[in-house]
Amino acid sequence: MSYKKSVYIRAKEILAQRKATAEREAEMRHSAAIAMCPEIVEIEREMASHGADVVKAVGMGADVKEYIKNLGIANLRAQARRKEILKSAGFPEDYLQVKYTCDICKDTGYNNEFYCQCYRKLIRDVAREQLSENSPLKKCTFESFSLDKYPDVVDSTIGINQRQHMKDNYEFCKAYAKNFTTQDQGIFMYGKTGLGKTHMSLAIANEVINKGYDVYYGTIQSIMDKLEGEHFGRLPREDSIKEDILTCDLLIIDDLGTEFTTQFTTAELYNIVNSRILSSLPTIISTNLNIGEIAEKYSQRVASRIIGSTNALYFCGKDIRQMD
Ligand SMILES: [Zn+2]
Repeated sequence: MSYKKSVYIRAKEILAQRKATAEREAEMRHSAAIAMCPEIVEIEREMASHGADVVKAVGMGADVKEYIKNLGIANLRAQARRKEILKSAGFPEDYLQVKYTCDICKDTGYNNEFYCQCYRKLIRDVAREQLSENSPLKKCTFESFSLDKYPDVVDSTIGINQRQHMKDNYEFCKAYAKNFTTQDQGIFMYGKTGLGKTHMSLAIANEVINKGYDVYYGTIQSIMDKLEGEHFGRLPREDSIKEDILTCDLLIIDDLGTEFTTQFTTAELYNIVNSRILSSLPTIISTNLNIGEIAEKYSQRVASRIIGSTNALYFCGKDIRQMD
């Protein structure tokens, strides 16, 4: 999933709307409460004057602590009085409180200096919405995956019928998506270009997203470009994807092996695969390389981590993009 500027802009708009709505509704409740219990106005005036007195008290010298303490007590009493009045008029206890969607950040999106979880989730939701509008995600479903395109002949590499083999892969992936949990193993989809690996992984993404899981999909090149930009400080903080990649429920890395390989990308690939294994989170990898070639291109330890944490599915057939 690519988090473009427009994702953050939209997410911030939604947050601002949430905040404004919560505050407007609280004001309306406040007006309703005053209409029913006008004596609240006087109590609130008193509370406001306590606040002003605290500001004045700062210049008072030695007695300031005691003075502020007493103001605090007076304020608590005023609050309790207001609560009592509201209660006897039949209002719920929290009637005047602003009811934010997120209590942690009060719909600001920030928890101290960090993004609040609600904001991160909102960003992912908006990204998913935009991704499904602008990518083949919508088109790439299990329903649109056609097994007829695979030749009904024996594959020379594995010695079994190609269509039957792909049907087995299809059934496996469909069941995987249907029963998905974050405790699952990942999937290693390998085979030549154009055999439906991207379609199959997006079909899983569709189902898993619908089950309410957080899925991150990216080609290896786009993932590495962003990680590199982040690492060398070229990307603004809000474009940061590292945490999403390491912590999303399902990560799908497409086209492994097609990226421009450097020491950085090799180290990052190991870090991603290994971190997700340590967090017991599944990863789907699609690639034109077999596991021996992965070991050669990256390292033996990358290959063994992948093998140890995934179900390997071999994709066979003719390039289905040229068969229409
Ligand atoms: Zn929040």
